Amino acid sequence: MRRAALLATLWLLTACPLPAAEEPTASPLQLEYHLVLAHPNLHLVSVEITAGKVTGDYLDFVMPAWSPGRYAIYEFAKNVQEFQAAGAQGQMLDWSNLDKQTWRVDVRQAGGTVKAHYRVFANDLNGSFSQFDATHANVNGASIFMYVAGHKPDPLTLTVEAPKEWQIISGFSTAGSDRSFQAANYDRLVDTPLEACADVKLLQFQEQGKTIRIAVHAYGEDKTDPAKLRDGLQKIVHAEMASMPALDFEHYTFIFHFGPALSSGDGMEHLNSTQIIIRGSMGNSLAEALETAAHEFFHVWSVKRLRPAGLGPFDYTREVYTPSLWLAEGVTSYVSYLALLRSGLWTREQFLARLADEIRTLEQEPGRSLMSAESSSFHAWFYDRSPQMQETNFANSTISYYNKGALLGMLLDLELRSRTQGAKSLLDVLSLLYRKFYEAPPATYYGPGRGYEEGDVLAAVNEIGGSDYSAFFERYVRGTASLPYASDLAAAGLALRTSVASGSSPSLGVTVLPDNLGDRIFAVLPGGSADRAGLGRDDLLVAVDNQSLATEDLETRLRAYPPGATVPFTVQRQGREEIIDVKLDPPMPDVYTIQDLPGATSQQVAIRNQWLYGRR
Ligand SMILES: [Zn+2]
Ligand SMILES: [Zn+2]
Repeated sequence: MRRAALLATLWLLTACPLPAAEEPTASPLQLEYHLVLAHPNLHLVSVEITAGKVTGDYLDFVMPAWSPGRYAIYEFAKNVQEFQAAGAQGQMLDWSNLDKQTWRVDVRQAGGTVKAHYRVFANDLNGSFSQFDATHANVNGASIFMYVAGHKPDPLTLTVEAPKEWQIISGFSTAGSDRSFQAANYDRLVDTPLEACADVKLLQFQEQGKTIRIAVHAYGEDKTDPAKLRDGLQKIVHAEMASMPALDFEHYTFIFHFGPALSSGDGMEHLNSTQIIIRGSMGNSLAEALETAAHEFFHVWSVKRLRPAGLGPFDYTREVYTPSLWLAEGVTSYVSYLALLRSGLWTREQFLARLADEIRTLEQEPGRSLMSAESSSFHAWFYDRSPQMQETNFANSTISYYNKGALLGMLLDLELRSRTQGAKSLLDVLSLLYRKFYEAPPATYYGPGRGYEEGDVLAAVNEIGGSDYSAFFERYVRGTASLPYASDLAAAGLALRTSVASGSSPSLGVTVLPDNLGDRIFAVLPGGSADRAGLGRDDLLVAVDNQSLATEDLETRLRAYPPGATVPFTVQRQGREEIIDVKLDPPMPDVYTIQDLPGATSQQVAIRNQWLYGRR
């Protein structure tokens, strides 16, 4: 019995009941946050939170366990040290840890004011953690700032103490010399990352009356003119703003880091800013930077404003669940591909090649028949950059909500266009959802509008499409049926073609990791050659036909055999060596292309042209 198969039968999901949103308390505190950037060599930032108008017996200061946009429990409290609390006259107050992330301060003798102070170690540059070193401070608020339990809705001020030559770049202000900022509530504070740096290049442009700023902090030598980045961003922002309802911010900031020596890249969306970290120079990675920017900027509509229920206001203490990341993330990817095409940054060939590549990715995932788009979204907490402390079968049991969501976006868009004879598109659905859910009276302190449920998405598709799409959602969003590429692409006069690249080896049905002695099996394709022969994970393939794999690539070696050949593998398993015969399968199709359908009707061609070249 396979555990993954058993799980799949249980994954009939609806959104879990979420805790009630935290409502404004009867008596707000007067909250002042003070961030001191003074010890770069130790990577320690100091935080002081002053709470005025304090009543009652105690205040709980809470460090988030996660940061919105990354669905992983990181326990930011791990890096907190030297917590202390004082009252109005500087008298020390007693405190104790209620749990791993909550500091409870006894405020009975506080005199109405509490100053909580602590330091945080910060030395990771990415979209969730923070980094403070001699070159800069890059602050993602959830990893640095505690909130006062029951007072997340309270307005607050933030002051930053930094070297005077450092500019502070964030969505709070367009003046790099500003050191004091206002946030409507704690959620806004942590949704506004800060880059404090002396060596940052700033550019900007206007679009629809909004100021769009670009801050670039680049490591290493790169003579590329950042105006190239700005020009590309301007095309993307123009294309995306032209296709969606008007936005309610005055300015937006792209914060870029480029560095060939950075450990990894990242992109993280925020209300009116984004952090984009590229492992490479601007010159070599401009296309990657623009593609990431197209995705992150579209998040200003989908996920930052039009949001699934549960994603704002946030419960920072634990996981919050939504089945809709396929829409919030995957459809965002699809729509960003469309924007890259519409902006002229991608050709028609690049656009179709990317979609074909998304199809290849999903079709090569064994997990596509076990995990739906909704369950992939729901279980994001297992694999959205979560550290894996135990071995998992994710290679065979999961799919990506980015990948399948992008394909669902493409298919829904094509179905809407063909069923409405080109009158409507997926962008009409997203615009309708935005108006219905974001441009609605606020349901909580968090800001305008309210979150949507999965059923609201189907209702919006039905409304725009003028027919019933519940079978589509049942089969492809909630279910794991094979996606209808052929019929939906045909509606736009296109066809998916798959083939085997010339020179491909027969398929062994394994993923391997190189080892000094040969190749160690990391994953076995269920039902493939290796599986049928009894090969398993961690088996070490040391020879084929008595010829060592220590010096020869497995793929190259397999090319010597025709499909269907039975080949003796020398396998090391649990310290013993044995010979296992494997009957090789034909190579798997690995070339996926989307091509014009020969003999397409004028109606199909019209839908194709409208899809590829129309405004929507
Ligand atoms: Zn920086
Ligand atoms: Zn995203």
